[in-house]
Amino acid sequence: MINYSKAPIQELKSQLFEQHGVRVLVKREDLNHAFVSGNKWWKLKYNLEDALRQGHETLLTFGGAYSNHIFATAAAGKELGLKTIGIIRGEEVLPLNHTLSFAESCGMKLHYISREAYRKKAELDFIKQLRDQFGNFYLIPEGGTNELAVKGCAEFAEQLNNEIDFDYLCLSIGTGGTMAGIIAGLDASKRIIGFSSLKGGAFLEEEISKMKSPEKTNWSVNTEYHFGGYGKTTSELKDFIVKVKEDYQLPLDIVYTGKMFFGVVDLITKGYFKRGSTVLALHTGGLQGNPNENEKNT
Ligand SMILES: *Cc1c(COP(=O)(O)O)cnc(C)c1O
Repeated sequence: MINYSKAPIQELKSQLFEQHGVRVLVKREDLNHAFVSGNKWWKLKYNLEDALRQGHETLLTFGGAYSNHIFATAAAGKELGLKTIGIIRGEEVLPLNHTLSFAESCGMKLHYISREAYRKKAELDFIKQLRDQFGNFYLIPEGGTNELAVKGCAEFAEQLNNEIDFDYLCLSIGTGGTMAGIIAGLDASKRIIGFSSLKGGAFLEEEISKMKSPEKTNWSVNTEYHFGGYGKTTSELKDFIVKVKEDYQLPLDIVYTGKMFFGVVDLITKGYFKRGSTVLALHTGGLQGNPNENEKNT
């Protein structure tokens, strides 16, 4: 298997948090691996195991040009000696950005398809076409979300139960796969709040419900902090990320964790969390996608 470092928990201290009687911790899962990092490590864990067990030599997956999942899959393939193929949404843009040049340096074969074709990526006909073109492969869906990904994230949550005491777990949501796993694995006494990184994220409740244990009700999806939509940003969010790094030495990414943490701080300010409670924010990684963070990852 690919290696894993146990990620530290960072406590953030500020007058604001003190005033509201809330303790704020961050589980720095972004530090669990140099390249296959954050939630992507957990989402890939059982998929990689399954691919190897079945004797596959090639992984094929999908993503946009800035995808953390493409980045992580390319690195995992390299570490395990598996070939990787990335089906990338949209046209090739040269020079390649950091995400794709890294993927290519790991040996990933990049194959670009139109946005229109990309919408069919889950259809059987389309996948058959890919098999005709590339031969046999182990397929991992976009964002890595499938049952095995949910299983990996549930295992992460089970470990967290024994590691530290807290009242709320806050995390960012893309597809909801990570959150579904965490709902399944985390003690029901804790409250889980997912922050949608995309606009109109109300559908995520249903998506997550389909994937997680049906009896759990200790969770909700917050759709207020999307900053214009997936991959969109504002100067307010950018300034916030700069300030959090200065104040707490906590680097956040612009697509996911920055929005989530903005939401956490805003909710603290509004008195949302009970006095005396501990909020654990989950750093799911994604720093490779930051325009100015790239030097660190190369
Ligand atoms: C992929 C990703 C997410 C979203 O995970 P889902 O399981 O798709 O909800 C959140 N944060 C980061 C940093 C990611 O890379």
